[in-house]
Amino acid sequence: MTAAAARRDLLRAKARAAGLDAVLVTRLVNVRYLTGFTGSNGVLLVPADGPDLLCTDGRYTVQAGAQAPDVELLIERASAVATARRAGADGHRRLGFESHDVTVDLHAVLVERSGAELVSVRGAVEELRAVKDDEEVAALREACAIADRALADLVADGGLRPGRTEREVGRDLESRMLDHGADGPSFETIVASGPNSAIPHHRPTGRVLETGDFVKLDFGATFAGYHSDMTRTLVLGEPADWQREVYDLVRAAQAAGREALAVGADVRAVDAAARDVIVAAGQGERFAHGLGHGVGLEIHEAPAIGQSGAGTLVDRMAVTVEPGVYLPGRGGVRIEDTLVVRAGAEPDLLTTTTKDLVVL
Ligand code: ZN
Ligand code: ZN
Repeated sequence: MTAAAARRDLLRAKARAAGLDAVLVTRLVNVRYLTGFTGSNGVLLVPADGPDLLCTDGRYTVQAGAQAPDVELLIERASAVATARRAGADGHRRLGFESHDVTVDLHAVLVERSGAELVSVRGAVEELRAVKDDEEVAALREACAIADRALADLVADGGLRPGRTEREVGRDLESRMLDHGADGPSFETIVASGPNSAIPHHRPTGRVLETGDFVKLDFGATFAGYHSDMTRTLVLGEPADWQREVYDLVRAAQAAGREALAVGADVRAVDAAARDVIVAAGQGERFAHGLGHGVGLEIHEAPAIGQSGAGTLVDRMAVTVEPGVYLPGRGGVRIEDTLVVRAGAEPDLLTTTTKDLVVL
């Protein structure tokens, strides 16, 4: 059985438990997760009993056949409409649908074409996706390794030096990830230097790096569809006392957050483990975002690890731990790793670049 088939069986079990005859999956990233199909038009029907159906259009006949060989293929341009019609023809009376994806207009069409009662299965596939199988962990591990290697090269080649602009550094880092086998960057690389490092999600500008700057790099690679996510903050020249202080504080908070990662841990408690370190140092106000997030086929996915999160960690969840302290006008530090939670073991650290303060 393929990994995708095993995932569909998990969704099938959910459908049965909810008394549904079938689930209609319209979110493309979820279709990819459940079939392996990467085209831009695809709807999947997973019945409580028997064969799964993938509908796409004629551009993707060959690709869908190759990527999803173990599902029935239906080739029609209006894939959601065609799949709903098929669900109705197959006698499905209670049809699960992704209410977080389907528009009000499409919902009306689905009701009309299927003749079924539509029942929300909001987040059901995302919940499955939060727990990674071996294939997914391997892809994430490679994506993270690519980012680690790219940063190591950038540093070794003197790519982080006064005189370069943030944009130059960002492009350099991204091209090194491609050289190491990335499909692309996970997201627009953040290069934030000097005072800009105090902006959590700064976009690279033409600012020229100067001696004495913090340089905060938040970046990642995609590999086989999976995203890596890592932040490191380095300093150009001997750090000032305040820079060492902020760095050591964030590093201690990040370590506390990683140590709190365990099966059964409440996501708010994990956030608090790191946040309490920063609050105790009187900098609580300077850490104005959540501690981390799930990562996989999307750069941000379940679970959210933060003060307003809910739920507990499960074996094989892939998550980031990324506290930061940002001092407006001066500079900031964030340190971020991607890890896989493991039952009865330490979390598996996928981003292995040093967290010692690197002075260049
Ligand atoms: Zn990041
Ligand atoms: Zn992140």
